[in-house]
Amino acid sequence: MRIAFIGLGNMGGGMAVNLVKAGHSVAAFDVVEAALERARENGCTPFTSVREAVQGADAVVSMLPNGAIVQSVYFADVLGHAPTAALLLDCSTIDVAAAKDVASAALAQGYAMVDAPVSGGIAAANAGTLTFMVGGSEAGFAAAQPVLAAMGKTVIHAGDSGAGQAAKICNNMLLGASMVATAEAFKLAERLGLDLQTFYDISSKASGQCWSMTAYCPVPGVGPVSPADNGYQGGFATALMLKDLKLAMAAAQDVGAPVPMGHRAEELYRAFAEAGNGGLDFSSIIATL
Ligand code: NAD
Repeated sequence: MRIAFIGLGNMGGGMAVNLVKAGHSVAAFDVVEAALERARENGCTPFTSVREAVQGADAVVSMLPNGAIVQSVYFADVLGHAPTAALLLDCSTIDVAAAKDVASAALAQGYAMVDAPVSGGIAAANAGTLTFMVGGSEAGFAAAQPVLAAMGKTVIHAGDSGAGQAAKICNNMLLGASMVATAEAFKLAERLGLDLQTFYDISSKASGQCWSMTAYCPVPGVGPVSPADNGYQGGFATALMLKDLKLAMAAAQDVGAPVPMGHRAEELYRAFAEAGNGGLDFSSIIATL
């Protein structure tokens, strides 16, 4: 297939390369010249505008920072410029309302479009092991599945347009709150005189067990290797966790859902990011407790 790929940053750069490896011809665009050059070195064909990149495309994949940018790129340069037979896949994490807005405009113009945000960080994007949560019609999902499978190990249909984004922010709200809870349990255990490895050995086999503990422990030297063992470098940045928590809070407000734990996690991550820690892995929130 000829696939236009827009947004070749930390995530998109690796995802585009995996499409090349799967045998697709990738027409790449990013506003940053260095990102475009890296894509060229990795087998993509660079273009100097979105409009040029999407010409003749069988599919358009975007991996952009936020909903406003996704809306401006699609409304200005994709819709009406890509062939109407092209399948549109937005893999960015954006608000549910923006995802629905772009998808409904695309559908009205005869395109098939899915929102397909990802779980898994930069390493998974590079390795092609992302999890995709897909919002769109059955037919849109069926068409998107093989494209997404070239970039991930799991592709799940979440429901209609916007459902992929809804699943993503609910998951990450749970992750943010569970990381804070895991971190405070370890800190309390420490104050109570427990050996932290012993607490891990017990709790990881008991009812407090969760992913934030057993796969991503915020305590250095405890559990499998995680960003905590690397000075909280790499991993999933606090700034990105805060972004997802803000999206979750906005969505909860829209539908009147009470989310007290998510709300508290958002407050804690906001204060932590504002104190200059946005670049550290999100498990470093333990330092505040
Ligand atoms: P990034 O900032 O590294 O990449 C975004 C890219 O989009 C940049 O290269 C930027 O130059 C480009 N861009 C911005 N405006 C553009 C425009 N108008 N046209 C073309 N390109 C444009 O961000 P990232 O870490 O790759 O994240 C991308 C998306 O994936 C975000 O929505 C993020 O929330 C989501 N996400 C990130 C991670 C992660 O661990 N980094 C994990 C899951 C989901």
